[in-house]
Amino acid sequence: AEDIGKIKPEYVRSFLFENKLMASTWIVIRIDGCHFHRFSEVHEFEKPNDEQALNLMNSCAVAVLEEFQDIIFSYGASDEYSFVLKMDSQLYHRRASGLVSAIVSFFSATYIVKWKEFFPQKALKYSPSFDGRAVCYPSSKILRDYLSWRQVDCHINNQYNTCFWMLVKSGKSKTEAQTYLKGTQTREKNDLLLQQFGIDYSKLPVMFRHGSSVFRVKEENNVTHENENGASFAKPQSRVTLEHCNIIEDSFWKAHPSILN
Ligand code: ATP
Ligand code: ATP
Ligand code: MG
Ligand code: MG
Ligand code: MG
Ligand code: MG
Ligand code: MG
Repeated sequence: AEDIGKIKPEYVRSFLFENKLMASTWIVIRIDGCHFHRFSEVHEFEKPNDEQALNLMNSCAVAVLEEFQDIIFSYGASDEYSFVLKMDSQLYHRRASGLVSAIVSFFSATYIVKWKEFFPQKALKYSPSFDGRAVCYPSSKILRDYLSWRQVDCHINNQYNTCFWMLVKSGKSKTEAQTYLKGTQTREKNDLLLQQFGIDYSKLPVMFRHGSSVFRVKEENNVTHENENGASFAKPQSRVTLEHCNIIEDSFWKAHPSILN
């Protein structure tokens, strides 16, 4: 302990091992609610889809895009959100721990601050938390495959959960409902919903079926500014927007070419 003053900072720092995420790749930070099965029960979320809970998630994602300018696109469903950073982002020097921790803590804190706005009648009973991970996708094709995978997952889960909760609400136990649905295909699930419950799956709210995309769009009519010399110039404006679109098909990406370029 007498030698404490002799410790060289370079020596202590040398134990920190941290790679940078690969340059010129799309970084995706995916966050996911920790134990939201329990969180959604404790807070009596409507099953299978609590619309206000999804609106709260979306509002937090909008806040994340407003806070972190390098995020160009995000996609969310259930208790998860994927945030895509532009390819050449240097945020946190592309270090995974910096990026993941900053986005996860900002999202979690925002979720708590905004809770009252979306659930004015419900007290927040304990602190929700989210985990996060960073993955690099080396081409826009592979990034699109990733996003398609998340949207397919949203669809499969939603279809299953819609059937499951209809069976449970109609009197089956959770185990019975699970057994009943085991091995059923998409078609069979759609038929079950239509024939037993009169539900046309394709008519369910689009947010439940497609999830939510939050991204930047360039404003059409550029706002004109004046510089110090009084000369006017057009500054390209962008705003953050929320849509529930099909991001698997080409049409979305063709309509928004600036996102992946
Ligand atoms: P983990 O900590 O491993 O992520 P988890 O309990 O959060 O565990 P997930 O696979 O992430 O498990 O699933 C999230 C669960 O949260 C869903 O199964 C669902 O029960 C619940 N949930 C999340 N959002 C909603 C919502 N908007 N409406 C109803 N339930 C929701
Ligand atoms: P970064 O986002 O890079 O971390 P930062 O502004 O948070 O930037 P830090 O190096 O983390 O910079 O320093 C934290 C700063 O926060 C301190 O310099 C100090 O000004 C302030 N701070 C933190 N805790 C306290 C505290 N308990 N009392 C007063 N000031 C504090
Ligand atoms: Mg998880
Ligand atoms: Mg979860
Ligand atoms: Mg989840
Ligand atoms: Mg710091
Ligand atoms: Mg700091």
